[in-house]
Amino acid sequence: MQNKILIANRGEIALRIIRACKELGIGCVAVYAKGDENSLHVKFADEAVCIGPAPAAESYLNMNNLISAAVASGCNAIHPGYGFLAENDKFATIVERCNLKFIGPGSEVMARLGNKSEARKLAKDLGIPVVEGSDGPVEDAESAATIAARIGYPVLIKAVSGGGGKGISIIKSEEELFRLFELTRHEAEVNFGNSQVYIEKYIENPRHIEVQVIADAYGNTVHLGERDCSVQRRNQKIIEESPSPFVGDDLRAKLGDSAVKLARAVGYQSAGTVEFLVDGEGNYYFIETNARIQVEHPVTEAVTGIDLVKEQIRIAYRSELSFRQKEIKMSGHALECRLNAEDPNLNFRPSPGLIRNVVLPGGPGVRLDTHIYNNYEVPPHYDSLLAKVITFAPTRKETIRKMRVALEQMIIDGVKTNIELLYLIMHNTNFVRGVYDTGFLREFLETIKGDY
Ligand code: ADP
Repeated sequence: MQNKILIANRGEIALRIIRACKELGIGCVAVYAKGDENSLHVKFADEAVCIGPAPAAESYLNMNNLISAAVASGCNAIHPGYGFLAENDKFATIVERCNLKFIGPGSEVMARLGNKSEARKLAKDLGIPVVEGSDGPVEDAESAATIAARIGYPVLIKAVSGGGGKGISIIKSEEELFRLFELTRHEAEVNFGNSQVYIEKYIENPRHIEVQVIADAYGNTVHLGERDCSVQRRNQKIIEESPSPFVGDDLRAKLGDSAVKLARAVGYQSAGTVEFLVDGEGNYYFIETNARIQVEHPVTEAVTGIDLVKEQIRIAYRSELSFRQKEIKMSGHALECRLNAEDPNLNFRPSPGLIRNVVLPGGPGVRLDTHIYNNYEVPPHYDSLLAKVITFAPTRKETIRKMRVALEQMIIDGVKTNIELLYLIMHNTNFVRGVYDTGFLREFLETIKGDY
């Protein structure tokens, strides 16, 4: 049987996976919701199947329709991309039961790592530093208060199944804890179908540093260095870079060893990310793993020269990793900006609508991962990512300069975007010096308020 992959996603990541399939000579089938029929992933895939009405719950999240589409089109694997069902272990289980490959680490590993509290426990048992907090899910406000009193406020209440920066409440006092505990549980139930929460000490202005790992079915587990994703708005990443300006060789080796140790302990296969927070003194703490390809994977591809999506697909079809740890050579610097259809002047409200005109930048060291084109209609139903601009050069300074020029030469008419904000950040002294943490964007937005 010829290999053929159903891509259970849309937008730029669906295009990214289509390209990888085509380069590997593997068939690819796109899926689309009504209203998405003019999207590029539908046009560029070998085949395309409609999987339901526009709302994601009825289409891109509709497990029955996705499985039917895969079986009917003769696929033997499903690539979930990121978001939607990418980390849904129930979906992975169904896919496996239907004798299809789920391109990811396998349903059992996903279930284990997807529970953030359990992943934390696993890391702790392996001797990997974790943020102080509860030893598992916390059932009631009284128990939460006892733990918070021990570790000291502020603390975070985090949903065990949370993701995408959602399901995290910051709690500054016992009074707030009693007021918000049940509410956070309720929100976790509504958003993630699981009301369980756990407690973590709030680290003041840390850096978010994550390690890319990749592992095959033959015991080869390697790490591909770190990405600094500290430029965030409401716990969601906007700019990512590799290497991190904060991480030296010592810390890099420790983070890499910890990430590989964790991946090995669960028998991880496929590409995955182990996320850490790093405080001002260079202490690092595991926070969670992401058992999927990440939005920001291109910066790692740029500095390692490895095509992560192709490797991920090859591993799923039981090929060996095509490199070993000692062969990994990181060189140069890469930066990614996420361009969103949103209005920074209206509290980043999503700005769907018709894109009348698009001009995309190019040149050496500039990569554009995007699904937009002239007269593309940005639907209101999905996330607002329009394009990822990635620049790559020998030094960080050159990479930033390249990003400035790329953003200058990028035109998107018709919808509001955050291009100008990204451009301003590329000129901010602290950003340029590499001195920033997860509090950077909040402070930056305050300083430019009114002038924006
Ligand atoms: P998600 O799964 O939703 O992405 P994470 O646990 O990865 O959630 O956290 C997202 C972001 O929230 C982090 O990058 C960081 O900015 C912030 N954060 C998470 N945990 C802590 C913590 N203990 N202290 C301070 N900030 C945190």
